[in-house]
Amino acid sequence: MSESIKFGGSKGLLIAIALGFVLGIITGNVVLAVAPKGTQVLLSDWFKAFGDVFVRLIRIVIPPLIFFTIAAATSSIANARRLGAILALMLVIYLGTSAVAAVLGIIAGQAFQPGLGVGLEVPKDYKPPTPPSGVDLIMSFFQLDFNNLLAVGGSTTMIIFALILGISVVLMGDEGRKISYFLSLGSKLMIAFVRAIMYYAPVAVFMYSAWLIIRYGPVMLSAYAKFLATQYSFTLMHFIAIYSILVLMGGLNPIKYFKAQLTPFMIAFATRSSAVTLPANMDAARRMGIPEEILNITLPIGATVNMDGTALYQALSALFIAQLFNIGLSPYHISLLILAAVVGSVATAAIPGGGTIMLAYVLSVLGLPLEGVGIMMVVDPIADALRTAINVSGDNASTVLISRLLGSKLKGSIN
Ligand code: ASP
Repeated sequence: MSESIKFGGSKGLLIAIALGFVLGIITGNVVLAVAPKGTQVLLSDWFKAFGDVFVRLIRIVIPPLIFFTIAAATSSIANARRLGAILALMLVIYLGTSAVAAVLGIIAGQAFQPGLGVGLEVPKDYKPPTPPSGVDLIMSFFQLDFNNLLAVGGSTTMIIFALILGISVVLMGDEGRKISYFLSLGSKLMIAFVRAIMYYAPVAVFMYSAWLIIRYGPVMLSAYAKFLATQYSFTLMHFIAIYSILVLMGGLNPIKYFKAQLTPFMIAFATRSSAVTLPANMDAARRMGIPEEILNITLPIGATVNMDGTALYQALSALFIAQLFNIGLSPYHISLLILAAVVGSVATAAIPGGGTIMLAYVLSVLGLPLEGVGIMMVVDPIADALRTAINVSGDNASTVLISRLLGSKLKGSIN
């Protein structure tokens, strides 16, 4: 891999982002402690706005980045079996890890019962919502229309388009080589584009962390605290234990993985968007030595479909809501919940709050009150920060294992 496609001075950027993170948290706490209420609101609005600028800048590059990376990678793999192997392994590992996360969410909810004893009343006119049919759900992944390609939330359309386009280039034979070269140049160009935007990342991380503390710090003292403590501890457990196992199976020292993952972790935590974190996540994968042909396929797709943090959150939230309303769930409902949380996490858009919007689907499968979505909205940004960080980290841990299974040796391999 040429030096030119790395972020300029990755170490410097990492330190600047870490500094932004710590200073943001300190600033938020200072504002909470000394500023009057009105000033707090005003400052938090400004902090958020400067953070939002980063997200909007990255949003410009997401459609072409997904297009060029996936199309370039697919068109460069002339061997259909290899492409099939990458896609098949990816699906099995992505779905498997999300199911493990959903089970952890259920264990957390059953063991700690964060919603017990609150006793909310189920609304009088409450009727259990009707879940969408299986056919409707599957078809919702195939809302394919050329106009969707550039739409926010149109990533699935773009992924399918780029995959088929890459395959078509291979089908063109010799003539297709020039197009494949053009696509790979395009993908390098997009990475350079991202590098330019990344100089703003430390500022954005500072702004978002300060905003999160000022706006949501006080909520941490309320009844939601137990939910968040449960979610944070189990999500971190998934991150540390499950991903260590994955990368160990992938033949990589977990320390190398956690080190490489630090920058995307902080960017995901601050921006709460897997899509926005995609470029930084790809850079981390390159630093671990994962081959371009693999990471250019697994990471853009992973950002959209693989969300372990969200699966865990949705499973735990459903139990939390059932407990708040004193609604008992049978073992049948619990097994249904694992499935619903995995499907819900796949269908979740890689944007801030996407997981809580899709929680409506999970609740409807179990017949739980949809008011639960509103209840979870109150603490969503805090819950979202960590689940997004784990969502992106899961893509890279799985990619390490996929690379190993496909015969690549990574930098810092332990065997
Ligand atoms: N914000 C998450 C992400 O982008 C999705 C979610 O809300 O769960 O990965």
